Amino acid sequence: MKTYSINMNGDVHDELIKHLIRNDHQEDLCFATYTTSTGVDRLTGIITGIILPEEGDRNVHRNVGFMPKYFERAIRIARSKKQGLVFLHSHLTSGWQNMSKDDVIAETRMAPTAFAATSFPLIGMTAGIDGAWSARIWLKNLNVKRSYEKYWCESVRVIGKKLSVTFNDDLLAPTFDIEQQLRTISAWGRTTQEDLSRLKIGIVGLGSVGSIVAEILSRTGFSYFKLIDFDIVELKNLDRCSGMFKSDVGKSKVLTIKESILRSATSPNITVKEIPFSICEVEGYLEALDCDIIFSCVDRPWPRQVLNFIAYAHLIPVIDGGILVRINSDNSRLIGADWKAQTVGFKRACLECTGQYKTENAILEKNGFLDDPSYMSADSGIELAFKESHENVFPFSMNLASLEVLQLLNLFIAPSGIADVGQQMFHFTLGRMDQDKTKVCCEECYFKTITGMGDYTGVQVHGIHVLSESIRRATQINS
Ligand SMILES: [Zn+2]
Ligand SMILES: [Zn+2]
Repeated sequence: MKTYSINMNGDVHDELIKHLIRNDHQEDLCFATYTTSTGVDRLTGIITGIILPEEGDRNVHRNVGFMPKYFERAIRIARSKKQGLVFLHSHLTSGWQNMSKDDVIAETRMAPTAFAATSFPLIGMTAGIDGAWSARIWLKNLNVKRSYEKYWCESVRVIGKKLSVTFNDDLLAPTFDIEQQLRTISAWGRTTQEDLSRLKIGIVGLGSVGSIVAEILSRTGFSYFKLIDFDIVELKNLDRCSGMFKSDVGKSKVLTIKESILRSATSPNITVKEIPFSICEVEGYLEALDCDIIFSCVDRPWPRQVLNFIAYAHLIPVIDGGILVRINSDNSRLIGADWKAQTVGFKRACLECTGQYKTENAILEKNGFLDDPSYMSADSGIELAFKESHENVFPFSMNLASLEVLQLLNLFIAPSGIADVGQQMFHFTLGRMDQDKTKVCCEECYFKTITGMGDYTGVQVHGIHVLSESIRRATQINS
């Protein structure tokens, strides 16, 4: 079954709340435009712009109402942007809001015109006095002419420095176990635990870091996982991964980690979907769009580029990490090891601008040339900065995985109001952690231009992933 969600950036949220939550304690309304972000299981409406009322567009008395000319103007604007229409109003109570009889009548009347004019279903939203949101989408009833039915969204997400989510308790109930999670709940309270248990987490790459992230999250009570990785477990993975054993060799990493999550879980209701594809393939890419937060536990440039794209185009924050181990020339001695964790997305510096991958290498990888020595020597003009480094040990991965989960906690809980801790770098030889909060995207950063455009960037970042396909073929033959 398809689920629905709404997403908006923090600036849009602030402007909407400033207009809708009035100082004189009256309800208010406005329109907005939206575009879509279409995953496998979830359709998200991303709010793209606000259409504030002008003089004479509405009556603010106890029950706010609008004039037909305001609706018509809003429709014209949505049409010209080739986007959908959102109708928003406020209530004077807090939390997720239900609809009054008048609300239902108003939106039922608007739904056919909005759909006919824009080809997008009408979205209705209500803001509570505390800034919490609720939302529904009006879909055409195919059996009855000009009839539209409302489908409640399961969540409304706001991504500013902090990720704030209002959950629909009816569709996405909190899940926790007071006995198993006693110490966790006593650390940050039941409300936080309830919200964490409803976040949809994507883990891309189930190697050393990704497998440990999965273990930490399942113990902590997270309950929704999408695991994306095409690889299979090999003997060489066992010294660096959590939840993988000799008996798993030859099995897919996603299935292995799914079983491990189910074993470690303290939540009574766990949903884990395993996706044996690369994030660079359309199957993996679309699954990622169903997530609220994604862990980037990959070390290649193309998947990093795809995840960076998702963070901006689809407004889904991505937590990325990387480890660099330096050894001497005859591979006999460790010289140094450093790892860093950071969160990218709206109003934060992107993975390309912070040097986590190079576009030219992502293109080489996409075209199958990154590991091709003949290509490299044939075109010496291209400097291949990327060399896959396999050196790593479990304690390094463990520390990085923990840092990445801490980035999530800052982003979502914002302890003492701090949601953005910047890029964190740990230097093993010095035993020192550095923090850099000054990083910003460069002036010409492409990702700034596609922020919040969802399905309509006009760019396709996924493609054919030869290695992923061949591994799946080999696994099918063996099984
Ligand atoms: Zn209302
Ligand atoms: Zn950038």
